[in-house]
Amino acid sequence: TERTLSIIKPDAVQRNLIGAIYQRIETTGLKVVAAKMLHLDAAKAQGFYAEHEGKPFYDGLVEFMTSGPVMVQVLEGDNAIARYRELMGKTNPEEAACGTIRADYAESMRFNSVHGSDSPASAAREIAYFFADDEIC
Ligand code: ATP
Ligand code: MG
Repeated sequence: TERTLSIIKPDAVQRNLIGAIYQRIETTGLKVVAAKMLHLDAAKAQGFYAEHEGKPFYDGLVEFMTSGPVMVQVLEGDNAIARYRELMGKTNPEEAACGTIRADYAESMRFNSVHGSDSPASAAREIAYFFADDEIC
């Protein structure tokens, strides 16, 4: 079994899509083992996306991620990292497969509704970035 970090981004929270996205997560068989709603400040968003610092989209990404509340959760299951990324679809919603979260809900490359860890190392870092061990069931 494996854990991954999921974020429902401000564009999706603002459009009342938390429940629809949780429905998809649970339907695929992934378990929500921790969750919290947060409004990120600039420092927290910059640190989370530190790997993208200096890229042309970085400042806009940080501005977007601090623009409203996000829902952050840890998902658990066999092969959770890859399964959740498959459920999300590609970063660019125009390239995302039919039936994925981004194909159905994302508005653009920036306003793309969800985040998911991309490797075991990033999952470990990202889960610890938001949750203490005793906050995970
Ligand atoms: P995430 O890390 O949020 O799960 P991802 O792994 O699919 O998404 P990354 O390459 O890590 O994509 O980029 C992180 C986020 O930065 C994207 O989800 C998107 O919101 C934003 N982003 C990436 N590339 C661009 C771009 N070319 N223009 C605008 N925003 C972008
Ligand atoms: Mg990424």
